[in-house]
Amino acid sequence: MRDTNKLHPKLQILAEDLKSYCENQGLKIGIGECLRTVKEQDALYAKGRTVSGKIVTNAKGSSYSSMHQWGVAFDFYRNDGKGAYENGDGFFEKVGKIGKSLGLEWGGDWKSIKDLPHFQLHDWGSTPAKLKAEYKTPENFFKTWEDKPMTEQERKKFNALVKEVEELALAKEKVYHYTKDLPDWAGPTIQKLLDRGIYAGSSESDLNLPETLMRVLVINDRAGIYK
Ligand SMILES: [Zn+2]
Repeated sequence: MRDTNKLHPKLQILAEDLKSYCENQGLKIGIGECLRTVKEQDALYAKGRTVSGKIVTNAKGSSYSSMHQWGVAFDFYRNDGKGAYENGDGFFEKVGKIGKSLGLEWGGDWKSIKDLPHFQLHDWGSTPAKLKAEYKTPENFFKTWEDKPMTEQERKKFNALVKEVEELALAKEKVYHYTKDLPDWAGPTIQKLLDRGIYAGSSESDLNLPETLMRVLVINDRAGIYK
């Protein structure tokens, strides 16, 4: 299946990254085969064995032996109009190198069947042995990809925390410390009050003037109280 949305979430991001990194270096690629069903894998396994053609894989569908069946592999093709698998100029080696720099395992490095258009996550090793031992079937593995929903208790805790943060933000009043930071509409009033010793701040160098108090002082000034 050519559907990157069916890949492991981490690999979805890496596939996108690979595409754009390659594009930046003038290597236009497309993403081909991603997740593979048992049936699709069996059809590939038959090639060169029970049907004509070259052997392309050693992985039987029912044994879940291909990383494609676990959603942790994808294949790419050349997408610049020169032929999907044209490699006279070392196109696939160049893409392989970029993919490896992103942390992907590249099929071109394999010994038994070299697979130039193939990349996979290395988080569970090179083969599905570890995945098989831990999850038995790909379906069980896919279930671990979804975000686990919050429990009722976690949700309550989370909501309480959000409320607390909102209240803190509301309670945190802006305080002015220097005359140079005062808004234009308040500067002359506050300077006048400082000059006359009506307002002194907390020290000579610190106004320590809360915004609400500043507003009251300016209103008073406009009312003519500090004439
Ligand atoms: Zn592949």
